[in-house]
Amino acid sequence: MNKIMHIYKQLKEMYGDQKDWWPGETAFHIAIGAILTQNTTWTSAYKALQNLIAEGLDTPQALYHANIENIKPLIKPAGFMNQKARYLKNLASFTCEQLACCIRNLRKHPQPRETLLSIKGIGKETADSILLYALNMPFFVVDAYTRRIFSRLGIIYKKTPYDEIAHMFTSNIPQDVELYKEYHALIVEHAKQRCKKKSPLCEGCLLKDLCPLQTTEGHRKQNI
Ligand code: SF4
Repeated sequence: MNKIMHIYKQLKEMYGDQKDWWPGETAFHIAIGAILTQNTTWTSAYKALQNLIAEGLDTPQALYHANIENIKPLIKPAGFMNQKARYLKNLASFTCEQLACCIRNLRKHPQPRETLLSIKGIGKETADSILLYALNMPFFVVDAYTRRIFSRLGIIYKKTPYDEIAHMFTSNIPQDVELYKEYHALIVEHAKQRCKKKSPLCEGCLLKDLCPLQTTEGHRKQNI
């Protein structure tokens, strides 16, 4: 078994199944959530999403026709409300004007990722989150947690480019959407529960044998 798959197995052993990790009743809810969670916690993004749902502004058509000023207060819990309201409008305009108001139609597009990346406000992590979790397409999501854990494990550098990291995963594990979803969810869980930004809890971590930074001494020496 290669190292990337071995790490997956160890994470699974530590945290178990993460099924339905990204909640959302519709594909568009997941896409909205991917924008709202930029630079904030999922808890804050979720509150904002619930406000949009409560006001009926959770469909492409509704957001497309909504006055941007009415969107802003609803998404305030997620922060950056001016910017994110504009991004949500951009996503809704794209969905209604190019996908007949159904984001799932992006699956038929010859270049779905490039198309999403052409929308202002959608970067690589957001695009891949939409493709993987909303559209069930095999794109691997790389986030700050991925960088933290895999750089500590000595597999990447903190500044390794996004696409290089994604390729490292996709070339070492089977192309399986459920596996991609589960792996990313386990990475997030590990970063939150154990491989924390400051003072990681290495005792009991099943990746300890692989990790050059497993001891407190090691952390101090390497200044992480
Ligand atoms: S041993 Fe510590 S630093 Fe290494 S992956 Fe586990 S929690 Fe993170």
